[in-house]
Amino acid sequence: MAIALVTGASRGIGKATALLLAKAGYTVAVNYRHNIVAATAVVNAIAAQGGKALALRADVGDEAQVMAMFSALDREGEPLASLVNNAGILFQQSRVEDLTAARINQVLSTNVTGYFLCCREAVKRMSHRRGGQGGAIVNVSSAASRLGSPGEYVDYAASKGAVDSLTIGLSLEVAAEGIRVNGVRPGLIYTDIHASGGEPGRVDRVAASLPMQRGGQPEEVAEAIAWLLSDSASYVTGSFIDLAGGK
Ligand code: NAP
Repeated sequence: MAIALVTGASRGIGKATALLLAKAGYTVAVNYRHNIVAATAVVNAIAAQGGKALALRADVGDEAQVMAMFSALDREGEPLASLVNNAGILFQQSRVEDLTAARINQVLSTNVTGYFLCCREAVKRMSHRRGGQGGAIVNVSSAASRLGSPGEYVDYAASKGAVDSLTIGLSLEVAAEGIRVNGVRPGLIYTDIHASGGEPGRVDRVAASLPMQRGGQPEEVAEAIAWLLSDSASYVTGSFIDLAGGK
């Protein structure tokens, strides 16, 4: 067995990805920040479908907590084969002129520093250069990196732009070391993240304006992530799959 670590897997896209990767045969590490009840429910759901999982608490923006999480994975005695950097946050819809440094830094800490730290620890364990068996990383970005999210959360969009650059740069850095690094860019997906922006019904409000005239489901994003991690995508690195209904 091999481990797949999914950050922010207690709900939404991370949860759907964790459930699917468990079906694909991984031992799934379900990372969460606060909600142990929700994370434990994901672990139990995986066990109920015959899979293996463990819940790991860590704020991905906190270096010490990330290090402790990866040390806990090392003690499982199975190699880390896959990382899904998924834990992401956004705040109340706002214009740039109203953003505070504290808010901008909080978004960047989770959405950018968190992705970097988890990539760093994963590469240390996966790289052929360091005696690892190789692996695959998927960074969950957003269509916002292309669209900019004006009037809503340009700070969040900019953090996803950084995720795209991280994906390109790291994919090239480790391409010859047995590690593939790719990204997915979801559009409007039905999850709780929109409530954080102050508009729980955002997907339904905007859905009609999308080419496909509907929002997406977390499971539709999970399918792309699972494919990018799989051997079926063995020659794919530094690539992005847009899951945004045509936008
Ligand atoms: P969500 O429903 O709000 O879930 C976020 C998850 O991340 C939760 O499990 C949460 O855990 C965890 N989390 C938040 N901050 C964390 C931190 N610092 N450390 C560890 N875990 C943390 O979000 P989602 O919609 O599924 O989004 C997942 C990813 O997809 C994000 O990167 C988001 O930017 C991206 N995305 C989403 C959409 C969309 O329309 N939904 C579109 C494009 C991109 P706790 O509950 O324990 O705090």
